Amino acid sequence: MAGERKGARQPLSQARPGRPKGGSGKGAGARTAAAGAGAGGPPRKSKLAKSAHGVPPKSRGAAKKRAPAESRGAAPPLTSSPKTTRPPSPKSRAGAHSAASAPRSRRKPPAPPDETFRRLHETYPDAHCALHHQNAYQLLVATILSAQCTDARVNMVTPALFARFPDAAALADADPGELEELIRSTGFFRSKTRSLIGMARGVVERHHGQIPDEMDALTKLPGVGRKTANVILGNAFGKNEGVVVDTHVTRLSNRLGLTTEQDPVRIEQDLMRQFPRAQWTLLSHLLIDHGRAICIARAPKCPVCPLADICPSALV
Ligand code: SF4
Repeated sequence: MAGERKGARQPLSQARPGRPKGGSGKGAGARTAAAGAGAGGPPRKSKLAKSAHGVPPKSRGAAKKRAPAESRGAAPPLTSSPKTTRPPSPKSRAGAHSAASAPRSRRKPPAPPDETFRRLHETYPDAHCALHHQNAYQLLVATILSAQCTDARVNMVTPALFARFPDAAALADADPGELEELIRSTGFFRSKTRSLIGMARGVVERHHGQIPDEMDALTKLPGVGRKTANVILGNAFGKNEGVVVDTHVTRLSNRLGLTTEQDPVRIEQDLMRQFPRAQWTLLSHLLIDHGRAICIARAPKCPVCPLADICPSALV
């Protein structure tokens, strides 16, 4: 099951614009935050489209024209108030360049789930979990380490970690200082050490050293939330209990119009309603691959996106 995450089969330079069929993009992953945008401004799509073509927003030009009058000492209108720039709301920031951020009257229909899945599967036929692992224990450890860290970094750390602590029983007895040094480069190493040892002790004490394959039992372990449990159930046990919602799945689900939510639990519920259970685990891998290769947070490559003609957020 282990292996580097593969993206699309071809480099982006070979992809065809607006091609309804997949097989177009490839790229490596990086975790980035969504671009911000001001609340109450012009529709996000047109704003981004202009900036993408290098045309400055209208308001900048207007501000330049006003400057001479102000420099001559012209009195401001009595009704005027100091201009303040309203910061973007958390929702608009997270959903930047998404169909959900457009005014309701201008929203395009959401991408059809079945066609979206079909094209993404065609584009990323080998989409799979990027965390290297050989069993449920290793995947659980790697997933806990992947919080606020890239999968590539985790994959650099886990070989030595698994050699030193090959199972939950060994990890349960780990010296915290030694474990901290082994996982230091993944960040938040002290809290991750507590989670790993706590998880391992829970597995030993409650499950005879075997990683449980039930959502309830998994989420009762220290450091294991629903997202982590979904990763384990879907990839180590082949159980489609839910959809893993990370930053890529959040962004793409909004851009594709599959949800208007930012809360991972609500996004997961929206996706579970629209896609068959059998597709849930793979769906998340497909969206993550597409988010890394083409539908990038700050600069989505819509012209080469295989979903461009069905995506309500497409800038083409
Ligand atoms: S890259 Fe594709 S999925 Fe992302 S916004 Fe553009 S057309 Fe939509």
